[in-house]
Amino acid sequence: MKQPFYITTPIYYPSAKLHIGHAYCTTLADTIARFKRLAGYDVFFLTGSDEHGQKIQRIAESQGVTPLEYVDGIVAMFKELWKRLEISNDDFLRTSEERHHLTCQEFFRRIRDKGDIYKGEYVGLYCTPCESYWTEHQLDENGNCPDCHRPVEKVSEEAYFFKMSKYADRVLEYIKSNPEFIQPTSRRNEMIAFIEQGLEDLCISRTTFNWGIPVPDDPKHVIYVWFDALINYITALGFLNHDEKFEKFWPADIHLVGKEIVRFHSIIWPCILLAMDLPLPKQIYGHGWLVIEGDKMSKSKGNVVDPMLLIDEFGADAIRYFLLREINLGQDGNFSRDALISRINSDLANDLGNLLHRTLNMINKFQKGIVEEFSGVNRDVDQSLESDKLETIRKYRAEMESMKLSDAMKTIWSFVSRSNKYIDETAPWKLAKNPDQKSELAATLYNLVESLRVISIMISPAMPLTSRKIWKQLGLDSTKNFDEVQLDDIENLRIEFGHRIEKPEQLFPRIEVEKS
Ligand SMILES: [Zn+2]
Repeated sequence: MKQPFYITTPIYYPSAKLHIGHAYCTTLADTIARFKRLAGYDVFFLTGSDEHGQKIQRIAESQGVTPLEYVDGIVAMFKELWKRLEISNDDFLRTSEERHHLTCQEFFRRIRDKGDIYKGEYVGLYCTPCESYWTEHQLDENGNCPDCHRPVEKVSEEAYFFKMSKYADRVLEYIKSNPEFIQPTSRRNEMIAFIEQGLEDLCISRTTFNWGIPVPDDPKHVIYVWFDALINYITALGFLNHDEKFEKFWPADIHLVGKEIVRFHSIIWPCILLAMDLPLPKQIYGHGWLVIEGDKMSKSKGNVVDPMLLIDEFGADAIRYFLLREINLGQDGNFSRDALISRINSDLANDLGNLLHRTLNMINKFQKGIVEEFSGVNRDVDQSLESDKLETIRKYRAEMESMKLSDAMKTIWSFVSRSNKYIDETAPWKLAKNPDQKSELAATLYNLVESLRVISIMISPAMPLTSRKIWKQLGLDSTKNFDEVQLDDIENLRIEFGHRIEKPEQLFPRIEVEKS
């Protein structure tokens, strides 16, 4: 039986269009999901939308539509974006769906029945945009919301509370005894420090609006958005119906989240799961933020980058490659148009595109499109290429397994450069002039198509469209259906003598930059 692997993105908030930061997070998750599938895992990859809350209700009212009508339009754009970005999610969960309402209410009911949810009075400082209550000492230096730095207001309401305090010690113990649980380590240390200050019980219902999941048996309350949202990871597995998906995929292997919501995932979520007697996820991975041209992205600065426009202009794979290559997972990264264009021109058009184009052109020109047989060729340069190839595959696997996606891209591209250099070292155009060197020529071209075959498999999690194109141009569809290629095929499959390649087509056109 295949080993299960469950990975999630956060469910995104449909208050506006998605920006490049969302595309970054979802591309990371997609690349990991695709790699795991390639490596033979049975993968479940979930993304979705977090649709409830006062803010959505207010925006909808201001536009004269119902909250559901409002989010329907935005969620359709989310789905369109993920399709255009080649995101391979297995499910898309909307928190407004009935399956989620029922699951959430079941959680609430069970936790209340065991005495871990009680009714009380909440007086607190509330930030409406963040839908978060804050205590006095959490506010920033101006007395504003510590997350968004907008003013908070004092609010008092009857509310249900979840006894988080009861579970603080167990969560702390879990974090301490599972070093991999919160990654990167800097986030882990922050969370330990946070819990060690002591956890207060969490207010988990609201009465000031009604766009949310009604509290069972007390429908004037709706369930607090974070309590509602986190449960999505379990709803999607069919928990209520005792679906085999739940048995197979829970606990999740990775909840990939932005660093600003690590706290909710590594503290509130474990407390909810402990109260439900359910196992905790194996890892919460907090990725960094994208800054735009060196500046934090925000609507007020007008520097929000629309990923849909970027895909229109450069294609999904170029965007995916840039995001994976340019940013070390866990750290903040910079997005700039110049840097994107420079990566496309140098890494994609020049290095990868040329390697493919030169190789296929030479096979067409010198060998009529056939990968010809050879024997008795064993030059130093061939051995060096072969050992570099094996070392590349070993490093690539290790880096992908440990989610060092940027390093994995560097590893692939250094092999792309190595293979280009091999062309210069062997000078096939000279070999072609000398009939005595027919075998050397055949060996050179064989080694090059083999390099490209290996490269096309290695880039497939990151660049699904490009890898498929290379596979096709190499004529490999007749050898193995691209969709059935597995990670072990990197080593197990070889191109056979007499193999016919297809017509070369340009992978990435060079982008001309206007000189200013
Ligand atoms: Zn705020």
